Amino acid sequence: MGKFALEIACSTEYVKQFAAEGEDFRYYLKIKCSQCGDVSERFLYVCAAVTVPTKTGRSTANLVGKCKNCSREWTLNILPESIVPFKAEEEAKGDGYQAIAVFEVRGCEPAEFEPRKGWKVASSESNATFSDVDLSEGDWADYDDRASVSLAIMELTSRFTKR
Ligand SMILES: [Zn+2]
Repeated sequence: MGKFALEIACSTEYVKQFAAEGEDFRYYLKIKCSQCGDVSERFLYVCAAVTVPTKTGRSTANLVGKCKNCSREWTLNILPESIVPFKAEEEAKGDGYQAIAVFEVRGCEPAEFEPRKGWKVASSESNATFSDVDLSEGDWADYDDRASVSLAIMELTSRFTKR
């Protein structure tokens, strides 16, 4: 069993913070088998609100699967207390990456992340928030009427680091 942090980096304008919104937020991941190193062709999604029984039926996990190459079974769980927003005030710290979620895995590791939809962005200049933001392209912009500024998120990239 291991733990991997999903870390993201980006640059922002007039953004206070943004986060995966709600328990039904879908993290789209490619999964790498720990046994043979095979990486899933498609992105699978996992969300904290869903749990499924493991193949043995003895426990549950947020996502359960089987390697197409070697048939090794794997499980992946989102640690709910690990989900935190990306904070713009910290974007220049270190190499710019901030952990926004930690996954606990057995028999696999997360190999790739796609941000897609469902993000909630808060303005730095007012109490305006934007829901169901789409970060699929790694860029987003919208206008904050209350503060008369254009919010932007640019060049979002991600990586996984072992905990
Ligand atoms: Zn495998």
